[in-house]
Amino acid sequence: MNKKRAVFLDRDGTLNRDVGYPADWTQVHLYPFAVDAVRRIREAGLAAVVVTNQEGVGRGFFGRAELERLHGEFAAAFARAGAPIDALYYCPHAALDGAGGPGCACAKPAPGLGLRAAAELGLELAGSYMVGDKASDILFGRAIGAIPILVLTGYGPRALAELERRGLRPEAVAGDLAAAVDWILEHEGRGPGRRKGTAP
Ligand SMILES: [Mg+2]
Ligand SMILES: [Zn+2]
Repeated sequence: MNKKRAVFLDRDGTLNRDVGYPADWTQVHLYPFAVDAVRRIREAGLAAVVVTNQEGVGRGFFGRAELERLHGEFAAAFARAGAPIDALYYCPHAALDGAGGPGCACAKPAPGLGLRAAAELGLELAGSYMVGDKASDILFGRAIGAIPILVLTGYGPRALAELERRGLRPEAVAGDLAAAVDWILEHEGRGPGRRKGTAP
């Protein structure tokens, strides 16, 4: 049997508004399309796996226990809505501008979180997808051999400019996660191709 593939999802700026360093669930504002996007991913037979850099831990803004409590609430909100997230992986280390902190192999764009998810969940990374709003998400997607998609929520517009400057291209650019999932379903050959806001 073929291994399952995944849609890796960035958290802040992709599933919820990026408000800096949310320390508890009351500061997390899910985008209105987030739950439905996860549901559609799972209905397509793909795993929904959140991969997030949370250097607020390494910087001492909040502890691991607080972050894990927040992630418990995060996962519960999706589960309650009938769209459970398959898994959530985070890097707690303080990184320098997404470049990966000293001694840390898990801050995106380093592939650590994706490799760990693949090993623990038995995922096939080739043909998986990565959706995020920063250049580090796109580079992470490439690093794990997945198909990277940039969303224009959060830091997306700035990331697009940065990627262009560096001559790097996401596989697709989507207005938001809902449009990214449209693109994925179309790419999977399942969707009706009714979408807007994406470019090659
Ligand atoms: Mg983000
Ligand atoms: Zn790390």
